[in-house]
Amino acid sequence: MIEIAEKDLLQQYASDNYSGICPEALYAMESANRGHVTSYGDDPWTARASDAFRHLFETDCEVFFVFNGTAANSLALASLCQSYHSVICSDRSHVETDECGAPEFFSNGSKLMAAPSQNGKLTPEAIREMATKRRDIHYPKARAVTLTQSTETGRVYTLKELGEIAAVCRAQGLKLHMDGARFANACASLGCSPAEMSWKSGVDVLCFGGTKNGMAIGEAVLFFDRALAADFEYRCKQAGQLASKMRFLSAPWVGMLESGAWLRNAEHANRCARQFALLIDAIPGVEIAHPVEANAVFVEASEEIFGALRARGWKFYNFIGGAARFMFAWDSDRKRMEALSRDLFECATAAADSISR
Ligand SMILES: *Cc1c(COP(=O)(O)O)cnc(C)c1O
Repeated sequence: MIEIAEKDLLQQYASDNYSGICPEALYAMESANRGHVTSYGDDPWTARASDAFRHLFETDCEVFFVFNGTAANSLALASLCQSYHSVICSDRSHVETDECGAPEFFSNGSKLMAAPSQNGKLTPEAIREMATKRRDIHYPKARAVTLTQSTETGRVYTLKELGEIAAVCRAQGLKLHMDGARFANACASLGCSPAEMSWKSGVDVLCFGGTKNGMAIGEAVLFFDRALAADFEYRCKQAGQLASKMRFLSAPWVGMLESGAWLRNAEHANRCARQFALLIDAIPGVEIAHPVEANAVFVEASEEIFGALRARGWKFYNFIGGAARFMFAWDSDRKRMEALSRDLFECATAAADSISR
């Protein structure tokens, strides 16, 4: 083993992508490391992973494997749009706030139209408003809607909400894309099947996240409307997203899907989020900002409390609406979560004491 200092390896909850590779994905990667196979996706691992997705989603979808979520989202949206089109998204969405303009770049300029969201969720009303407010030639033509399941704020669209959004999309002639960087967490949260939460709810294209679910790397792009996938492999290649040793992107999916780890991992992460929320629920001066529906807990507290928590070595981000975000993953450890909640309690208590003195 190549050693790194233990203090640099302590579990943190700043993001679910701080975690390592789960055993099922690693086992599949090691298995794929035997022998030689054809490169660029023309290999038995990639075929088997694609079939595993078709089986899981109970439909004959087109499946592609790319390195990360930004590429998956951007290329999927680009495949839905001409350059003069627009994509309606939530003002909190990753495509809008965290992809460095990649959706616009890969679509040669299709404009993202950020709609006001409620708790990070797009509403049918906001979509209808965005899609209908201008129809003249001077304005980009609305062509697609993208929503994130589970959302950047840790919320989950119910099947009813998805159905209502899909109905607006159909009525307005819009394609529906789902950013499923945390699709598994949403599935675990709703207890529904992947099919119900995607194509049966009107989703045309899904980006299914592997990285935050326990893989080293990789997202799958699933086209339920196969016609939309025309030439997608060229888009991937041009964007630098065609892995020559594709089996190492695809084999982990075989491990994740065939073993059920994708769902177990998400269930564990969601359970940890709920447990953490309970641990910190009664701490004075600390509020939970959003209902905990997936694997995120957003915490509101004073800058003093956050500063003290950071001084104790905890890492977390405040980029979404000021609240501190704690994300739980497939390997989140109860003892370490308790240590965080204890530290939060002590920091909050010390801050309250300093105010009352
Ligand atoms: C993490 C994440 C992605 C993917 O991000 P990459 O860093 O490009 O892999 C996409 N959407 C959401 C909502 C995410 O949280």
